[in-house]
Amino acid sequence: MNADKGTSNKQNKEVDGLIKKGYITIIAGPCAIENSKQFEETAKVISALGISYMRGGAYKPRTSPYSFQGLEEKGLEILKKIGEKYNLKTVTEVTDTVNADIVADYADVLQIGTRNMSNFALLKKVGEIAFKRKKAVILKRGWASHIKEWLLASEYLGLEGEVEVILCERGIRTFDTNTRFTLDLAAVPVIRKLSKLPIIIDPSHAMGQSDLVIPMSRAAVAAGADGLIVEAHYDPASALVDGQQSLNPKEIEELLKQVKRVASVIGKKVR
Ligand code: PEP
Ligand code: MN
Repeated sequence: MNADKGTSNKQNKEVDGLIKKGYITIIAGPCAIENSKQFEETAKVISALGISYMRGGAYKPRTSPYSFQGLEEKGLEILKKIGEKYNLKTVTEVTDTVNADIVADYADVLQIGTRNMSNFALLKKVGEIAFKRKKAVILKRGWASHIKEWLLASEYLGLEGEVEVILCERGIRTFDTNTRFTLDLAAVPVIRKLSKLPIIIDPSHAMGQSDLVIPMSRAAVAAGADGLIVEAHYDPASALVDGQQSLNPKEIEELLKQVKRVASVIGKKVR
């Protein structure tokens, strides 16, 4: 396969799963599943707003080995239970070939994080599971990866057969330190030119500060993104992970309001 031609084969089609044509799909939820109460209180807020996908990490790939590492399988149990109770489809990260099947037992959508974009053994394993078990996969861009490397990484997910792959731009490393990363919104039109894969934006990890999430969400929608994945928490001040970039209930409501306005200008709906 030739990276210059973008992703080739089976994944290269219009999809109608997690991503729906003509819609901006919103995925919201906490960085990590901390306990049942935290996940349920946040689920209540999200489902009341009509959002249909909830995120939450059970296996957390932390930069520091001393930070909270996630509840692992106990977290997955909470994810599934609360997801079903509030009729929310669930998105969670797979960090290792060893836990990939377990994650697929509990979650609707599998996420590959930025730190694992080039973990080819993991990509192959997740691709195999996603194909067999009909799961969509969100592939985050490595924070120091070229777009062509990202597209080639997506090919690993399709080696076994057709998989719904959704690219996610979540910020890359540049010299500026005012934001956690630099959100490369140019990736949206570039991906449109090179590939038929859908692309969503994660403004939370890119910006690292909650007050910067809404403006970049508006910009992402205007640039043509297919969706947003944002961190939201019923009480960000108490969050064990990434509270500073998590939207509180009022802010997530405001985000939806503003995103709907931008979406209507370009003839899209928000779901
Ligand atoms: C996440 O979405 O929970 C996460 C860890 O993001 P990233 O891989 O983009 O850092
Ligand atoms: Mn996070």
